[in-house]
Amino acid sequence: MPGSSTVTVHADREVLPQRAVAPPIYQTAAFSAPDGETFARAAVEPRGQDFYTRFGNPNHAQVAAVVAELEGTEAAMVTASGMAALTTAVLALVSAGDHVVGQRSTYGGTASVLLNLLPRFGVTTTLVDQTDPAAFEQALTPRTRLVLVETPSNPLLQITDLRAVTDLARAHDLLTMADNTFATPLNQRPADFGVDLVWHSATKYLNGHTDVSAGVLAGPAELLDKVWDTGLLTGTVLGPFDAWLLLRGMRTLPLRMPRHNANGQALAEALDAHPAVSRVHYPGLVSHPQHKLAVGQMTGFGGVLSIEFTGGFEAADAFLGRLRYARRSASLGGVESLAVHPASMWRGMLDEEQIAAAVPPGLVRLAAGTEDTADLVADVVTAADSVAMGSRS
Ligand SMILES: *Cc1c(COP(=O)(O)O)cnc(C)c1O
Repeated sequence: MPGSSTVTVHADREVLPQRAVAPPIYQTAAFSAPDGETFARAAVEPRGQDFYTRFGNPNHAQVAAVVAELEGTEAAMVTASGMAALTTAVLALVSAGDHVVGQRSTYGGTASVLLNLLPRFGVTTTLVDQTDPAAFEQALTPRTRLVLVETPSNPLLQITDLRAVTDLARAHDLLTMADNTFATPLNQRPADFGVDLVWHSATKYLNGHTDVSAGVLAGPAELLDKVWDTGLLTGTVLGPFDAWLLLRGMRTLPLRMPRHNANGQALAEALDAHPAVSRVHYPGLVSHPQHKLAVGQMTGFGGVLSIEFTGGFEAADAFLGRLRYARRSASLGGVESLAVHPASMWRGMLDEEQIAAAVPPGLVRLAAGTEDTADLVADVVTAADSVAMGSRS
């Protein structure tokens, strides 16, 4: 098996062999067929690449080839965003009357699908404390069909025991889906632990340059065929140019992740004992309550950490305003550092009560980019120092 840096450069080569070293952009909505038989066959080929771009495109297939190999799954598919990957898969896998188990600490959009969207279609849901593997078992009902996990979780960096959840799911004949956005396949491969479908907001680390919205799903071909069938109806197709940009971004994922990991760790350590800070959430800290579990299922801890300030919301907001490098933005996973106040960010997806249940009001989520570690550390320490000073005066 070639290593991940080789995989990201070469795994798409056989998708559509050609002499151009960089893959062409198939900027076309449709493909022609030489005869009726070929046309009829192309129309029903799951995740094909030469019928109609909503059904599939060579640029999608190239991304999928790399993602499948990185995640260690049989196949993969591409969607227009991370949320498109989630909603398309969930709509494909559950029906009215079914029950879905999710996590209490999870991305705001995922929480909204569980709390607000699925119940409208007669699908009941339960959100559990994912730090307690027994909570998943207690949530099961005879109608449970699917378990959604996210580890580390956004933005609290809580860890889900992948082995425990997949063992439980297997025993009860349930499907599992894992949001692997924060870890990336470089730091964690959920399929190795038995997760059925792995999905990403490829908008984040996979693309890595904050210039594309995209999603991916990886898993067994048969399961993805089902999701693809539904995807034809939800129409969440990624544009060919965006797929091309995503592939270009993924080429350097194995070079970027070690720097993100190093920067996340350094920032977490620099802020952990700071007088302005009451708590740093980062699985790479020995003080993280689930550090041992994280070490057991991850090979790196990523660039995202979250910070609670003793001064609450005001202090968090002041900290954000004083950062020189990390700009105030809703995204993460790019080469540039970004920071955000999650309680403000999720207003479009959750109501005030749902937000209050999900995140402390004074929490800051800091996504370390690939800048020099010393520059980022100096910047956050200066910003935190001035917050500490401000609260004393
Ligand atoms: C951003 C994000 C999503 C949503 O992805 P989009 O590409 O914005 O639709 C899902 N999960 C996690 C963990 C995220 O950070």
